[in-house]
Amino acid sequence: MHDRYAVIGNPVAHSKSPWIHAEFARACGQDLQYLSIEAPVDAFGATVEAFRAAGGIGANVTLPFKQEAFRYCAAASQRARAAQAVNTLVLDRGAPWGDNTDGVGLVRDLENNLGFALPGRRVLVMGAGGAAQGVVPSLHAQDPERLVVANRTPDKARTLAARFEGTIGCSYAELTGAAFDLVINATSAGLAGELPPLPPLQTLLAPGALAYDMVYGRDTPFLALARGAGVRTSDGAGMLVEQAAESFSIWRGVRPDTQAVLAALRRG
Ligand code: NAP
Repeated sequence: MHDRYAVIGNPVAHSKSPWIHAEFARACGQDLQYLSIEAPVDAFGATVEAFRAAGGIGANVTLPFKQEAFRYCAAASQRARAAQAVNTLVLDRGAPWGDNTDGVGLVRDLENNLGFALPGRRVLVMGAGGAAQGVVPSLHAQDPERLVVANRTPDKARTLAARFEGTIGCSYAELTGAAFDLVINATSAGLAGELPPLPPLQTLLAPGALAYDMVYGRDTPFLALARGAGVRTSDGAGMLVEQAAESFSIWRGVRPDTQAVLAALRRG
């Protein structure tokens, strides 16, 4: 039997993870199987247990289960504890262990693929869900001049920001007049063709800013508006491939090259 992995989410049919991990496995000469499993929203733990019983040894976790996956794990990495969210499960080394590779995936995409250095920059994260929770610790560790988390439900942004010294949590209205070098859309608004209620991008985005949307494989209203404001934009395809590479290296002890897979993903 092949070593068996999966991505577990709801919905999950759209996930590119099975394709990405199959490409990594082929390039690295690793013999493995990577499935896609839709868990009922009230049965994440039971779904993981059934997968383990069927020989599953590792899994990625996606929306809406990352916080539940953190609670499911008996132990977790320092970065998963900082995020209080898990996107990578290791199931074959004793009790379930969790990690979070979203933050390192985003930072590698920004710094290595997009040439954007984070230290000393003004960074805005929109959203305070599982994705924002995963990346705020890694962004904070890069020593930006300013790190602000804004959310439709402002209390969630304040709670998240309060865990990281100097980080500010607020509503979108409170952003009026502020300017940022990097604005990251970590909301799921783009999936519904919607836009967080931002102040005008002409003032929110400093000259030379980068507008980044974690959603991938489609244009979002945020990216379209940012292009209209004349700034550089990126979708989340690079983050997706980089976080997958980190999960792959945790499971297999081999770091796959990401460039060829990212180029193929962008070609469609
Ligand atoms: P989540 O836990 O469900 O959180 C959703 C967030 O979006 C919340 O902050 C929510 O605000 C906000 N939101 C939803 N609709 C909105 C709207 N119309 N206007 C303003 N805010 C809105 O989801 P998640 O796990 O954080 O994922 C967020 C997105 O990131 C998804 O699209 C996901 O596909 C993407 N993602 C991409 C990668 C990658 O590798 N590229 C990795 C992780 C996630 P409230 O708190 O007010 O409800």
